[in-house]
Amino acid sequence: MSEIRHNWTKEEIIEIYNKPLMELLYEAATIHRLHHDPNVVQVSTLLSIKTGGCSEDCGYCPQAARYHTDIEGNDLMSVQQVKAQALRAKSTGSSRVCMGAAWRNVKDGEEFDEVLEMVRTINKLDMEVCCTLGMITKNQAQRLAEAGLYAYNHNLDSSEEYYKEVISTRGYQDRLDTIDNVRKTSITVCSGGIIGMGENVEDRAGMLVALSTLNPQPESTPINALVAVEGTPLEDEKPVEIWDMIRMVATTRIVMPETQVRLSAGRTQMSQEGQAMCFFAGANSIFAGDKLLTTPNPDVNEDMKMFELLGMNPQKPFTKKEQPQTVEANNSQYEALGEKPKWTRPEHTIERNEAAKTKAKTLK
Ligand code: SF4
Repeated sequence: MSEIRHNWTKEEIIEIYNKPLMELLYEAATIHRLHHDPNVVQVSTLLSIKTGGCSEDCGYCPQAARYHTDIEGNDLMSVQQVKAQALRAKSTGSSRVCMGAAWRNVKDGEEFDEVLEMVRTINKLDMEVCCTLGMITKNQAQRLAEAGLYAYNHNLDSSEEYYKEVISTRGYQDRLDTIDNVRKTSITVCSGGIIGMGENVEDRAGMLVALSTLNPQPESTPINALVAVEGTPLEDEKPVEIWDMIRMVATTRIVMPETQVRLSAGRTQMSQEGQAMCFFAGANSIFAGDKLLTTPNPDVNEDMKMFELLGMNPQKPFTKKEQPQTVEANNSQYEALGEKPKWTRPEHTIERNEAAKTKAKTLK
């Protein structure tokens, strides 16, 4: 096993990222084999349980209410709907269901109670359950853990410096605080980011510094390639080059040897050969399902055919960590505290986000 370091510097990571490609691939693949079975891939299904109408201004996101996009918003799904989708995901090889809600933060109340019931229901189907619900407090993390949540996703998106150019309604520290609240429970941490938002290699390295210096490092790290959606501030960004994706995956693998590195948004733009190179470079997880929240994703059958072609097998649930116990709502030891996160940066504005908002007003 190679050593897990928590003191990576930006300079060291840039040097790795810029290595001659064959050397980078060889190093990443060697580390990958020391820590993982290279023929196993973990498959997650992402389910948007509440779509659109979000109050945040993330520059890449079609679900932000302030931008003009074609997203059809919907209210929170029912527990029965979620159960049906989870069973479908299980039958097509997914070991994990990740439920996403377009919320700034979790608010205690009926809707959160419903989400907790969804977590209990999916955990009882013997699938790993992940949630991505925005900022959460320690108490909310404890309640999710008690319901049987396996993982919580909260991406750092980019470096701290570039984050300010993409989102004005939250600070980087807000993200780190939520990750810390999750870490205080038995829930595993899923945190990664997006490339192709106009950031430079230093920003990509900066994000990997932030993730790799967490102790413990996140158990899973999604690497997304921006899907530029019309109406969002980042609508004109060019598609990410496959070589950038491969370099990013390989570098992530080297600095976070144990982490499951997940190919996420942007896979429809990647060829099977490109994806195979990413698996060789250390990716060992994908999001399956025809949609990733709101953007397109390859067909599940296509993915299964690709795995067959590559001789890869889907990972069984709870391979890395045992299944959490589910405590029923009436036996919970936690009460809802009704806490609200503070608006940390009320004065911060981003020109292109403001321009997209103004344009949307004229079109709506
Ligand atoms: S990424 Fe999440 S928090 Fe940001 S606008 Fe979209 S739904 Fe809201």
